[in-house]
Amino acid sequence: MRKMASIRKIDSIRPIEGADAIECAVVGGWTVVVKKDEYQVGDLAVYCEIDSWIPTELAPFLSKGKEPREFEGVKGERLKTIKLRGQLSQGLLLPLNKDTVEWNEGDDVTEFLGIKKWEMTIPAQLAGQVKGNFPTEIPKTDQERVQNLVEAIKAAGDCGLQFEVTEKLEGSSMTVYRIRGEFGVCSRNLDLKRDENNTFWKVAIEEDIDAQMMAVDPYWDFAIQGELIGPGIQGNIYKLSKPEFHVFDVYNIQTGMYLKPEARRALVERMGLKHVPVITSEFKLNHNVDQLLTIAEYKSELADTEREGIVFKQVDGGMTFKAISNKYLLGQK
Ligand code: AMP
Ligand code: MN
Repeated sequence: MRKMASIRKIDSIRPIEGADAIECAVVGGWTVVVKKDEYQVGDLAVYCEIDSWIPTELAPFLSKGKEPREFEGVKGERLKTIKLRGQLSQGLLLPLNKDTVEWNEGDDVTEFLGIKKWEMTIPAQLAGQVKGNFPTEIPKTDQERVQNLVEAIKAAGDCGLQFEVTEKLEGSSMTVYRIRGEFGVCSRNLDLKRDENNTFWKVAIEEDIDAQMMAVDPYWDFAIQGELIGPGIQGNIYKLSKPEFHVFDVYNIQTGMYLKPEARRALVERMGLKHVPVITSEFKLNHNVDQLLTIAEYKSELADTEREGIVFKQVDGGMTFKAISNKYLLGQK
């Protein structure tokens, strides 16, 4: 699982104009509004990312005096992106106490603190019947947030690395595969039984992906990963009338490597599948994290709506990351 809470150093403290009880603490690419003088530059603290599910005992104030919510049997609250006095605030900082003072910078304390990654519950037509666990041969889809990569972004810029930039679609992760002649369809975490009433399978059958993959090479073990978007999925922000599968990765199971962006786009086109919108195939990185976050804020290519964000993939393979639009996050309910 991804690190949701870790020990981080306070990089800087900034005042907020017109506010005297609060200020900003900066941790990597994240800015958090904190009580004034609670932290000093260089202090270690627990930083919890947005979308952390924080158990009530850790931070009861998050419920603002109301009954806490519940997620996977744990009472608590989800960390959302907020604005305080016009200042963007993302995540939560907690001071080290006698139980946590032993920790070192970088330590992952997610499990220790009982924190989970909040995720929207899967609607019934997506859930399906489970065939098994997600195939161990294929990596699950995920992308690191740019805010956690301040140093790596600097280094990539210094080397002049080139990136493909695609629109990040707000849907549900879907993986289809052929392994030793067997075709399968998976949700983000599970291998699903064939079932025409399940939206993942329905789309795979309608698009005839099994035959398409076989036509590429019947003996090749590979996986196609993309985002399923449409009615009933994450609010259907693109206002589609039918579900659609948009590919963002092709994984060669035999070599254990993703296809590079150009080869992936060519294969997807040849198969007649949809690809996630390509903003540019060659973006020379020469930007800091804040600049990349600003670029992320724009209209979607698919509909008249704000896009969720963008995903960067190194043209030569290697580094990948996401920049979620703060404008989009602030507009979420
Ligand atoms: P998140 O949705 O914040 O968990 O971010 C990671 C997920 O973004 C991946 O697991 C994919 O399902 C999804 N995603 C949507 N669009 C893209 C894209 N263009 N490239 C890569 N991943 C994407
Ligand atoms: Mn998502």
